Amino acid sequence: MSAQESVGPLRQKPQSIRKLRASIAERSQRAIDIAEGYYARIERFNPQINAYLALTRDQAMEQAAAIDAQAAKGDPLPLLAGIPIGVKDVLAMRGVPTTAGSRILEKYRPPYDATAVTRLRNAGAVLLGKLNCDEFAMGSSNENSAYGPVRNPVDLDRVPGGSSGGSAASVAADLAVATLGTDTGGSIRQPASFCGVVGVLPTYGRVSRYGLIAFASSLDRVGPFAASVQDAAEVLHVLAGHDSLDATSATQPVGDYVAAASQDVKGMRIGIPEEYFGEGLDPEVRAAVEAGIDALRAQGCEIRHIRLKHTQYAIPVYYLVATAEASANLARFDGVRFGYRSTSATNLSSMYKLSREEGFGAEVKRRILLGTYALSAGYYDAYYRKAQQVRRILAEEFCQAFGEVDAIVTPTAPTAAFRIGEKSDDPMAMYLADIYTVTASLAGICGLSVPCGTTTAGLPVGLQVLGPHFGESAIFRVAAAVERTAKSE
Ligand code: GLN
Repeated sequence: MSAQESVGPLRQKPQSIRKLRASIAERSQRAIDIAEGYYARIERFNPQINAYLALTRDQAMEQAAAIDAQAAKGDPLPLLAGIPIGVKDVLAMRGVPTTAGSRILEKYRPPYDATAVTRLRNAGAVLLGKLNCDEFAMGSSNENSAYGPVRNPVDLDRVPGGSSGGSAASVAADLAVATLGTDTGGSIRQPASFCGVVGVLPTYGRVSRYGLIAFASSLDRVGPFAASVQDAAEVLHVLAGHDSLDATSATQPVGDYVAAASQDVKGMRIGIPEEYFGEGLDPEVRAAVEAGIDALRAQGCEIRHIRLKHTQYAIPVYYLVATAEASANLARFDGVRFGYRSTSATNLSSMYKLSREEGFGAEVKRRILLGTYALSAGYYDAYYRKAQQVRRILAEEFCQAFGEVDAIVTPTAPTAAFRIGEKSDDPMAMYLADIYTVTASLAGICGLSVPCGTTTAGLPVGLQVLGPHFGESAIFRVAAAVERTAKSE
């Protein structure tokens, strides 16, 4: 049996959050049975997909039982009551292994919860476990995990995208109703596109980063994956809001994302940037995205062609800023305080060196080297400062565009899911896969990926919707319109 033939039962759409919550409230389903059902699927399918790195069954069953008790009393249920959710392994969960996909954190158990995790718990979510990802969220294919690659449930020979590969794959295979991921340069949107699910990059500051293991602090964001736009809106509503534990957290009021997802798009102005439809874009991906744009036009959107002329600089700028910040953030993994310590060290300096040498994988080391170089005396002005200057131009370009349009639509990635191993020996080719996602990361704006069709081989294609700072409601509106058409086809 080939991998392709074995995927049938793997691909399943979760029930919607709204339906699950209603059935728990009406007592037609028990939260504990729903959770058991998810653990049974995980047991059956995770060996093939490798999405979960750790399961938190005892905690989950306890939470589910508490929700059932609340329902039995007829108490009003919180927003995510009984909803099974998985968490990317870069977010701290108290007492639970939190590895960031790295050997260096193999035995690390944080003494506290990330704010995003706390918010899910407080909203009644049943947290199933921790999800595989590229080491320290560095990658676009999930092949950089120290715990093995995640496989795409649509085709097990292909990557699920990265770095939040486990988060995307588990929603696509219904091993969770929704999941948390993180996106620094595309790590929510690109895997959502490859696995055929919805993934949201909230505006920088919209969701607290407290308890997130940092990769590049000026770019890192936490956001949801779900099987539908409405479910993603429900989860973001719970995650969003000010947190005094994160100094970059925003105080702007949180919009009604769920209502936005059911509003029509008549009269919305949609920008289509020429630079995102040029060389390197797979023709089948282009066709699916163009069909999505046609659907928006048919639903009353005004389609405007726009220019984002500096887009070509985004990849070098991103890979300078992200690696520079990573080299600083990862200095804390020195064998002293967290995780792995080499046993062959003979003195302090060899303990630092060997712990890092043995604990980090190849891609993480490459980034630390690149970042340290870009920040070093004599090169700082030429690389890091220059990159920051161009970053500002990219952000201003988006601000100007959002003076004329309400949202921008592009492909999420230039291709559908590639084969495992296809790009793993060629870092440049891998970095170029992020060409359409890193711009929004650098500009701090919000975005999402919504499925808009498939290639002839049946691989999902994602359409990216970008919105201005705190424009989440607008992008949910547009995404729901794309989803309505993609579904009815
Ligand atoms: N693929 C990009 C990188 O490797 C983005 C990763 C991310 O968003 N965490 O840096």
